[in-house]
Amino acid sequence: MAYLLGLDIGTTGTRAVIVRPDGSVVGAATGDHQPMRMLKPGWAEQDPEDWWQATIRAVRAALERAALKGAEISAIGLSGQMHGVVLLDNARVVLRPALIWCDQRSQAQCDWITSRVGAENLIRYASNPALTGFSAPKLLWVRDHEPKTFERAATFLLPKDYVRYRLTGEFATDVSDASGTLLFDPAKRDWSREIFSALGLDPKLVPRAVESPEVTGVIARETALVTGLASRTPVVGGAGDQAASAVGNGIVLPGLTSATLGTSGVIFAYTDKPKLDPRGRIHTFCHAVPGKWHVMGVTQGAGLSLRWFRDQLAATEARYAERTGEDAYDLFARQASTVPPGSDGLLWLPYLMGERTPHLDPDARGAWFGLTAAHTRAHLIRSIFEGVAFSLRDSLEIFKELAIPVEEVRASGGGSRSFLWREIQADVYAKPLVTLRTSEGSAFGAALLAGVGAKVYSSVEESASQAIEVRERMFPVPDRVAIYERQYQVYRNFYPTVRELSHQLAALAR
Ligand code: ADP
Repeated sequence: MAYLLGLDIGTTGTRAVIVRPDGSVVGAATGDHQPMRMLKPGWAEQDPEDWWQATIRAVRAALERAALKGAEISAIGLSGQMHGVVLLDNARVVLRPALIWCDQRSQAQCDWITSRVGAENLIRYASNPALTGFSAPKLLWVRDHEPKTFERAATFLLPKDYVRYRLTGEFATDVSDASGTLLFDPAKRDWSREIFSALGLDPKLVPRAVESPEVTGVIARETALVTGLASRTPVVGGAGDQAASAVGNGIVLPGLTSATLGTSGVIFAYTDKPKLDPRGRIHTFCHAVPGKWHVMGVTQGAGLSLRWFRDQLAATEARYAERTGEDAYDLFARQASTVPPGSDGLLWLPYLMGERTPHLDPDARGAWFGLTAAHTRAHLIRSIFEGVAFSLRDSLEIFKELAIPVEEVRASGGGSRSFLWREIQADVYAKPLVTLRTSEGSAFGAALLAGVGAKVYSSVEESASQAIEVRERMFPVPDRVAIYERQYQVYRNFYPTVRELSHQLAALAR
């Protein structure tokens, strides 16, 4: 029997999942990370050594839970938080803590990149605009503010690729993760010579980029000793966490889309060709399916909206939940179910952390709009469920503009545990909403990619048909679709109308 190991180097922890080719999970474990360091507002750093130690703990625990020996693992796939910048010197020693995906310190570098390369050229060469989330601005921040460190930098690796280096001794990345650096041309599936030269960066800084199922190296002997894995086990390219999670959700064919409702929300669609939004509102990246692409839109404050409500305005539910052992989120859903769709004209704007898609506006601010004395707490809660779904629909509308087909939406992330939130999403998107048997996300997708590399499956598409099973398919209900359609049009027009006021308020709070 072949067993496949998927690893996901996340933000809060590293997850190891061992699966059989039929998709059943036989062992899984998480190694926690230290909290990220936020030395100043907007800064976020992690120590790459910490990811490695968490990997060792997670792999050992997963093998133990599955009662397997390392030699029984046929191949390993990696996925991880995207965009982070790990810098190594000539002796392959880490030069400084990694600046990770949510680090926002590099706006000045983004402006500089845009002026050096040109806004249109950035879309042409990198398929995306310069955003503080991407790697290149972070790399340039180090060049601008820590020139001595930058001078010594011989190699830049993404987080999962640092773990690959520790596992195999090899430098490599994959095309999906490389797409989030802004130094890579997703349309050509190769590093962008134009961008390296415009930014004055040495192309030798980056490793080779392979297709996700390609084997990049094997477990080194020293690694085998500390992890319990067998030396010479192949490690495949793997993927950035979003692409890997999409593989785990079977988003490997035209028409398939996923809605991941975690702290932030991501709408992700497979595309046959690189689809570019000239306005840069959605990201266009290489997919983990060789020769294919994906687009994705992001809502910053998706699950975060409900968590904020729980933490700030729901002491009663929190106490009740603590006493009864019930989940506070389930109590919210029960209350929200007592209110009709559309929350009697109450709207929630989930811009608690600014907004990415479609506004690309860090100064967007959240709001309830339409309040009357007749509204109750239940309305407040339901409107949050609905407002988050509207914000995710914004991405689907952009997909429609770009003629990207959407036949069904596959739900995942913490928010998909809620029946009500799934129902609201089906009605707001007016699409069938599907949930799957396995909700292991990125690590599961990475394991499937490993299976393709080990020839357990003949292709990524085949891995999906063998390992992924639909658990529930929820269809939109026409009456509710009509109500939400009207409400969505108000939602959509609301923020552009108040944008200037939102910026003024944001400035007052600085
Ligand atoms: P993260 O994005 O931090 O990895 P999750 O995918 O677990 O986290 O998503 C966490 C979010 O999911 C929470 O903020 C909450 O909004 C939502 N959530 C979790 N459980 C439920 C539930 N039972 N009902 C509704 N929402 C939930």
